[in-house]
Amino acid sequence: AKEDGRGTYRFFETGMDARAQARRLLELDLRAALQRGEFEVYYQPIRDVAKDVVVGFEALVRWNHSLRGMISPANFIPLAEETGLIVPIGDWVLRRACIDAAQWSQDVGVAVNLSPVQFKNPNLVSTVKEALKASGLPAHRLELEITESVLLQNSEATLSVLHELRAFGVRISLDDFGTGYSSLSYLRSFPFDKIKIDRSFVTELATRDDSMAIVRAVTGLGKSLGIVTTAEGVETDAQFDLLRQEGCTQAQGYLFSPPRPAAEVETMLLKPRAR
Ligand code: C2E
Ligand code: CA
Ligand code: CA
Ligand code: CA
Repeated sequence: AKEDGRGTYRFFETGMDARAQARRLLELDLRAALQRGEFEVYYQPIRDVAKDVVVGFEALVRWNHSLRGMISPANFIPLAEETGLIVPIGDWVLRRACIDAAQWSQDVGVAVNLSPVQFKNPNLVSTVKEALKASGLPAHRLELEITESVLLQNSEATLSVLHELRAFGVRISLDDFGTGYSSLSYLRSFPFDKIKIDRSFVTELATRDDSMAIVRAVTGLGKSLGIVTTAEGVETDAQFDLLRQEGCTQAQGYLFSPPRPAAEVETMLLKPRAR
């Protein structure tokens, strides 16, 4: 049986070696990346639809790998979550974003994404408070974006963390709204400050009646619940016009700007929307 076990193991290892090796290398690189200072935070403007001004920025992490160049978060966040490395990476993004935002010439908000894994860290609340204190950023300028999956896991502990953060003045947004399950029940489980309408609905806004109906329902829901609605992934004037018509509060997308390096925030704050 032992022999069989070894043989099976060897076969298994040979069978999946290319992908597994690549993954192992990526994991080693990811561990070293923080020390090497290879992460960078990019910022994408969020505009108030009615006033047509920038009201905040979403912080989005980038990995500037020494050999492979820029690696998109879609290609390393899942591995960072599996290995737990998202905790130190996420802490770094949070601290960086608070320091950057505290330097901006306007008192606009900064939105930081939180992984469900970061909620398993008992120090999350103190990490957030320390990032605010060290940077001097007022709590009301920080928004934390979470997805429904955060509320799925261990919801009692998670809810108390969210309540504590909100009591401290931090705003909490529900990200990627509409993509998970039983979304509406989550709106009752926690008093979110903002709902971010997932890009998949916005993309089809002008071409699919059902997407239009969903966006209309969510903006209506936001209005009656007193929650800000932000449309993600706005790429065309047609989409933006429909969002304004429906009374969506905020919009974010390539129509205004892709995420850009921190050094370009002031330019993005000044730039009127190109139409
Ligand atoms: P997300 O939180 O939904 O972020 C929005 C994503 O949509 C960003 O991709 C942004 O660049 C992209 N985007 C914005 N406007 C448009 C548009 O008009 N068209 C299209 N096609 N895309 C648009 P990005 O930066 O590649 O990030 C992907 C995901 O990685 C994020 O999705 C988020 O889930 C995750 N992520 C990024 N940074 C962090 C981070 O610091 N921590 C954690 N936990 N996750 C992060
Ligand atoms: Ca987000
Ligand atoms: Ca999103
Ligand atoms: Ca997303």
